[in-house]
Amino acid sequence: MRLLLVEDDAMIGRAMRQGLGDAGFVVDWVTEGRAAELALGNGVYDLVLLDLGLPGKDGMALLRDLRKRHDPIPVLIVTARDAVSDRIAGLNEGADDYVLKPFDLDELVARVRALLRRRAGNPGPLLECGNLVLDPVKREVRLQGEAVSLSAKEFALLETLMQRPGAVRPRSSRCWKR
Ligand code: CA
Repeated sequence: MRLLLVEDDAMIGRAMRQGLGDAGFVVDWVTEGRAAELALGNGVYDLVLLDLGLPGKDGMALLRDLRKRHDPIPVLIVTARDAVSDRIAGLNEGADDYVLKPFDLDELVARVRALLRRRAGNPGPLLECGNLVLDPVKREVRLQGEAVSLSAKEFALLETLMQRPGAVRPRSSRCWKR
C-alpha cells in the first residue's frame, strides 16, 4: 500500500514516515501543497495523510479540489487545529477521518489500516483469499492454517493484491474479506 504524506513539519513528517514505513507501508513525503497536488495527479496512492496548515496550498483547499475532481482516495487529516469547527469543516469537505497532533504513532497506523479496509469494503482485520489468510496487524500469513514465511517485500506485495481482490480474483476460487 502506497501512502502520500503531506506534512511541512520536518520532525513530525520524519516520525510519521518512519512509523508508517515500519508498519509496512510505502510512504512518499511532500512538504508543500502544490507538490502534493502534483503527486496526487498520478493516481498511484491508496491513501493521503494530509496536514491542513501547509505552504503553497492549504490542506483544506487541496481536499476540496480533490473531491471536486471526484477523486475517491481516502483522506486522513492530521492536524494541530483542534477547534471543533476545523474538524467538522474537514469532514464536510470529504475527509474520511482525522487525528490531532500530538498523536500516538500506533493509533495513526491503526486508523490508516481501518480506512484502507473500509475502502476495500472490508470492515474486519483479516484478508482472506481461498485458504490464504493475511493478518496486516500481526504481519502473518497462513495457508490452510500453516504459517507461511515471507520477506517484507513479498508480504507487502501479497497484502496489496489481497486488498484488491476484484483486480486479482482467481477464476477458480472466490476471494473475500471479513
Ligand atoms: Ca503544518
